[in-house]
Amino acid sequence: MKAKKSLGQNFLIDNNIIQKISDNISVNNNDLIVEIGPGRGALTCKLKEKGANLICYEIDTDLKIYLNKYEDEKTKIIYQDILNSNIKNDIEKINYNKLYIVGNLPYYITTPIIKYLIEQDIIIDNMLFMVQKEVAERFTALPKHKNYGSITLYLKYYFDVEYLFSVSKNSFDPKPKVESAIIKFTRRTDKPQINKEIYFNLINDAFKMKRKTLKNNLYDYDFEKIKNILLKYGFNENVRAEELSEEIFIEIASIL
Ligand code: SAH
Repeated sequence: MKAKKSLGQNFLIDNNIIQKISDNISVNNNDLIVEIGPGRGALTCKLKEKGANLICYEIDTDLKIYLNKYEDEKTKIIYQDILNSNIKNDIEKINYNKLYIVGNLPYYITTPIIKYLIEQDIIIDNMLFMVQKEVAERFTALPKHKNYGSITLYLKYYFDVEYLFSVSKNSFDPKPKVESAIIKFTRRTDKPQINKEIYFNLINDAFKMKRKTLKNNLYDYDFEKIKNILLKYGFNENVRAEELSEEIFIEIASIL
């Protein structure tokens, strides 16, 4: 069977990488792993060895010939677009302790998938994903770095996001055009105490135009109040959003 480019099919073929990914996932028998895009099962077989409950979402029914053999009382494969699935409903049928979501994601819908998962009314303890390297850098960037942006802060609100390791194009068949990386999400227990909607609107507006100052991006905010917070942290009104830490954005959101 030929890999389908339109579905982001780049199958992992490097056993060292597959093992390294697996080594970074620790679960107990009574936990639940959800795998997105199992493909031909490169990761699935390692995940199965862990003994936890396993649910996989795969959009491509042509892959049944590779995946059928994994199904049993603890492993279920659901042939569905993850973005149109009802994950809450599917996982509620299982009695589990922690939820761990895993996947070598189709790169063309990485961010929609992660946002979709976050927006479901479910508690996700950990996630571990293979993503495009540039995307991994954006997700894990620190203030003052060029990749730091609203998506960094959006994810950070929910999770500690770590860049674990890079993965070469040569680890896949067919070879993707871009380099990849593994990132790990751990649910924050110290989630910022802030009105989520106000905070997310603020970070979206603050980073709207990369070249503009914070003040210019926040042209319809009451900037006098914001300026006082900036001064307190040693910044002047010409500061750009990329210089400001989560702590400062939270404090700004709290006075809006
Ligand atoms: N995990 C496998 C395959 C990764 S390629 C491996 O590492 O080898 C990405 C996989 O995601 C493919 O199997 C593709 O068919 C599947 N996929 C693409 N879009 C999807 C979607 N919207 N929902 C579920 N699976 C999807």
